[in-house]
Amino acid sequence: MLDLINHVVRISARRDRTEINSAMVDALMDLFSPQRLTIYRCYAGKRKAVVFACAGYGPQGQFLRNAYLPDHHFCQPIDRDPLIKQCHRELSAVLDYLEDGTHRVIFPVIRLDEPIYFIDLHLSDEFSADKRVTLMGLIEYFGNHIALLDYGEADTLTGLSSRKTFDKHLFELLGQAASDEIVGNEQRFARRVLAPDSNHWLAVCDIDHFKLINDNFGHLIGDEVLIMLSQVMRQSFRFDDQLFRFGGEEFVALLQPTDRQSALVTLERFRTAVEQTTFSRIGHVTVSIGFSRLLTNDTPTDVIERADEALYYAKRNGRNQVACYEQLIEEGRLVAREITRGEVELF
Ligand code: GH3
Ligand code: MG
Ligand code: MG
Repeated sequence: MLDLINHVVRISARRDRTEINSAMVDALMDLFSPQRLTIYRCYAGKRKAVVFACAGYGPQGQFLRNAYLPDHHFCQPIDRDPLIKQCHRELSAVLDYLEDGTHRVIFPVIRLDEPIYFIDLHLSDEFSADKRVTLMGLIEYFGNHIALLDYGEADTLTGLSSRKTFDKHLFELLGQAASDEIVGNEQRFARRVLAPDSNHWLAVCDIDHFKLINDNFGHLIGDEVLIMLSQVMRQSFRFDDQLFRFGGEEFVALLQPTDRQSALVTLERFRTAVEQTTFSRIGHVTVSIGFSRLLTNDTPTDVIERADEALYYAKRNGRNQVACYEQLIEEGRLVAREITRGEVELF
């Protein structure tokens, strides 16, 4: 009992998904001694749901990965594992007896009828009823704590991540980009094979003539447009691209590494999807988008300013279009900015 409370206290002290996962692995290992344990984060994508093994205990010991940055090497479609698939379908705990005499049990963590995590344990002993209730209680507590954390980090209108979390996510991405450059062969092998010109990209998206929508239809309808737009946005990007509402009618997307052309294709797909959506009462709405490559020594302000410059270019040149900062520089339509640390960006 005391052990359980100590673990709950430790989990409750964490304010970051990765750290919460780490404390949850400690608790599960300590209290239930599973032979294997995986905490999967679940992404219900438009095309197929994917799970990311973000923390746990396996043959190589304990592992912990950044819960905000799903690494493709450790992601798999839900369909690939029949028991996870069953848990996803039934939305309740599922059990399987394995040939080696152990059993495997998976618990879903559910929010609004969608699984957001799966907790997968390989156990050698049958539990007492008491122990089972304790395990289920701990998993429920874990889900509630994550929900509270998400509530604090999400924009209340659209449910996208809020501006507040952007800097943290961006610093993590920049850290990852830097470590990608220095990892040895062994670690690099574990990463997705990327084209040599792959980079993270940041896109700023602003609704065209949104003030007119508010003026003509009122703020409430304006808010509905923002909600619908966020839904179109979720459907247009990959599960691991990070989406934010920056306040007002500005949205930001942080794209996982890809080449410039693919980033452009993704953003064009989003722009077109918005253009083709019928917004109730209003009809059609368009967006302008500016984007720029993330550089390893960027601050959040640096990259946003470049994407903003491309966005203003798109606004000045007819709206309802996507503009790439680097391309505008190459074509001489924009002049490269001096960045504050006195360096000049070269392309
Ligand atoms: P442009 O094409 O140049 O972007 O024109 P615009 O009218 O969209 O201009 P701008 O982006 O400067 O306008 C922002 C407007 O967004 C101003 C304000 O009325 C509206 N707005 C900002 N936040 C909210 C919000 O939370 N809800 C609603 N309904 N409107 C908002
Ligand atoms: Mg604006
Ligand atoms: Mg606008």
